[in-house]
Amino acid sequence: MEFTTQAITITKTKASRLPEVDFDNLPFGSVFADHMFICEYRDGAWQDARIVPYGPISLEPSAKVFHYGQEVFEGMKAYKDAQGQTWLFRPLENARRLNKSAARLAIPEVPETLFMEGLKTLLEVDSDWIPTQAGSSLYIRPFIFASGTGFHASPADAYTFIIACAPSGAYFSGKVDVRIEETYSRAANGGVGYAKAGGNYAGQFYPTHLAKEAGFQQVVWTDDNTHEFIEEAGAMNIFIRIGDTLLTSPTSDRILDGITRKSILTLAEAEGIATEVRKIRVSELLEAAANGTLKEMFGAGTAAVVSPISGFGYQGKRYALPELEDSYAAYIKKRITDIQYNRAEDPFGWRYAVGGK
Ligand SMILES: *Cc1c(COP(=O)(O)O)cnc(C)c1O
Repeated sequence: MEFTTQAITITKTKASRLPEVDFDNLPFGSVFADHMFICEYRDGAWQDARIVPYGPISLEPSAKVFHYGQEVFEGMKAYKDAQGQTWLFRPLENARRLNKSAARLAIPEVPETLFMEGLKTLLEVDSDWIPTQAGSSLYIRPFIFASGTGFHASPADAYTFIIACAPSGAYFSGKVDVRIEETYSRAANGGVGYAKAGGNYAGQFYPTHLAKEAGFQQVVWTDDNTHEFIEEAGAMNIFIRIGDTLLTSPTSDRILDGITRKSILTLAEAEGIATEVRKIRVSELLEAAANGTLKEMFGAGTAAVVSPISGFGYQGKRYALPELEDSYAAYIKKRITDIQYNRAEDPFGWRYAVGGK
């Protein structure tokens, strides 16, 4: 099924909220742009693709998303360069991953053309919502949920696909202390950990709350079976630098295939930084901390690009990471954001131009 821009109807808001927004003090993900893209799956097909003012939607209490958590989402960003041109970063990867997640949750896939045309049309309508302040961007949240009704535990017969946007300031969280998880798991073999399914995140909140009570900001997830292998950092992939080698865990049933993660691997390899994609034992981390070869740890994801870790806790002990002048985290963040904002060459073909200026 092909979707064209002409098939998307546009209803613009009569009262833009743009003048109320302080673009110099944007929080992350809690101010929403004027419009959203929405379409519905009914009678076996996606239909009624439209751009409408952002606002409440109406659902029956028996909508299956409320009972069985049948929902998947994506996270991506739009960037504006100094000339006012809008760019996306590897957007087809998000379209494909949304469908991979959807398939796992028995949600009908969204044609890639519908995803891309809906997104591009929305970004053209809300172009003025893409911030130009340094480090700012428009965070984009595409998601699909079961709007079809029924209390029986089976897939719904109707779904809603929405793309909503939130202008966001430079994501600066500072360094975080993490706790290596010894009890809870984020994902299991054969489960839905590789999908961006809403329920995965709900399940993380309580263990993360416990880690916070113990004085950490985030959890490092370990494998569900033995808790001996490092898997992810909160809702980010994880990188560990031992000596001058950058390590990350292989993707699996349990580990999300992050676009930032794979971009970092490609970039590091192109720039002569040694990388190893392999299982990482917690014991290896402890040894490297003891013999001084553990140099850096950081999370990797769209929101922050890289999120440096200052130290970790394990079995009641705390381990501090050194302060580095020439960290891979800072270097990689600069290289990737320079490509995203069109400040540097893009030898990998990652940038994707949207509309005119
Ligand atoms: C979204 C996400 C990531 C990062 O993926 P990106 O494509 O780099 O944003 C990593 N881990 C989990 C669990 C995620 O949900």
